[in-house]
Amino acid sequence: MNPEERLREIREQIADKTRIIVEEFCQRLILAKEVAALKTQLNLPIEDYQIEKKLTQQIRNICVKNNIDPKLGLKLLNILISASISIQKAATNKPLITPTTIFEETRRLEEQGAKIIHLEVGEPDFGPPQRVIDATIKALKEGRTHYTSKYGIPELRRALANRLSERWHTSIAPYETIVTPGGRAALTLALSTILNQGDSAIIFEPAWPAYKNCVESLGCRARVVNTTMENDWQPEVSQIEDLIDETTKVILVNSPCNPTGKVLSRKVLKSIINIAAKHNITIVSDEAYTEFSYRNRYSLLQEDCRKIVLGTFSKAWGMTGFRLGYIIAPKEICDAISEIAGEFYTSVPEPIQVAGLTALECFNEVDKYVALMKRRLETVLTLLKPLPITFKEPDGAFYIFFKLKDPISGEEFVEQLLKKHHVALTPGSSFGRYQSFVRFSFCRPEEELREGVARMREFLL
Ligand code: PMP
Repeated sequence: MNPEERLREIREQIADKTRIIVEEFCQRLILAKEVAALKTQLNLPIEDYQIEKKLTQQIRNICVKNNIDPKLGLKLLNILISASISIQKAATNKPLITPTTIFEETRRLEEQGAKIIHLEVGEPDFGPPQRVIDATIKALKEGRTHYTSKYGIPELRRALANRLSERWHTSIAPYETIVTPGGRAALTLALSTILNQGDSAIIFEPAWPAYKNCVESLGCRARVVNTTMENDWQPEVSQIEDLIDETTKVILVNSPCNPTGKVLSRKVLKSIINIAAKHNITIVSDEAYTEFSYRNRYSLLQEDCRKIVLGTFSKAWGMTGFRLGYIIAPKEICDAISEIAGEFYTSVPEPIQVAGLTALECFNEVDKYVALMKRRLETVLTLLKPLPITFKEPDGAFYIFFKLKDPISGEEFVEQLLKKHHVALTPGSSFGRYQSFVRFSFCRPEEELREGVARMREFLL
């Protein structure tokens, strides 16, 4: 057979195989729809890693038999499973009460003149230090209103490197920093750089929902280690290892955690670092709440491991509306991130970066904010303890994640409390499979916290 004929033949065979794959793929999705209906009926979770694990091993064997890198087969498996998950998600009951519905409802009630106590948002009420505001105005007046480097202004990168090196007794170079428009963007940029379609990332739940959403929006699998209040919100290290395969690129750590306030123990953190090193996995450490650690405060910046640290000015300096964050990572990662950043938003607004520079100069203000939050935590703990709820005292952040004793679900509780008593909270279902939990944010002045708990008490007792 001459080469042209052979090429034609192979092309026909490839087209044939592609048609078979797509036909089978469609059949697989039809079955997934039926599975969704059955799972809803049986009240089972969408994902079952034990079942997946068996399939993973079989796929690995098929690849080995055909002398193909198992990673390719496993990535394809992840894509197939992701497609089934989206179908199942669309078919199963979604939470009815979400942060968005609470937002809409509070605005509606406020428009009618109701005085709502906002214990749902993770936004400090104190706002930025006055010096930061003054510096922003000055920057605008001085004409610092231009495009800047996609990495951020050099003086802010230098200041970040110096301040963080000093704070965590380590050595960070300015080229290992990149300024971002907020912590959420830092997360998206970091994950977009490391994850490719079909990869997987390990996350611990309950968690800030952005983690799962971001991983899934990149066409990747978010494999969840569920932590429990009974186990002090500490992830089981053996479970982490169980979920790792050749496609796993990231373990996401958030300590202190939103919503539990858990600071991971050094022992667990060391185990995570060891597992990550063994499997060549990058730890992405979201340190949005690190300053708000009321017991031991630490950063992954102190550890020698493959890591990307995400930071934000939103919480510690009360600068949510400034939209300013940063990433600390090896130079090659910062370079890759800068490429996406440049394409995506060109650069972070210049006066906002000047504000960040000033914020780093007034770290003493942060200490005051942290002390204030700690006092509020103590007040809230005393107020909440007599109520028919259970919770673990948080080690950090500004939330209490409590479990209702009544058979009422977190969503029903939040809905009714808002309607009847005008107190807004967030249901636990927003953070994973935590239907009987509710998140209480103590980012409000003490009188409001007292009034909010009094209204909860009235509702619960
Ligand atoms: N990480 C966590 C855990 C958060 O809860 C938040 C905000 N809710 C952020 C990061 C990001 O905050 P921002 O985008 O305002 O910097």
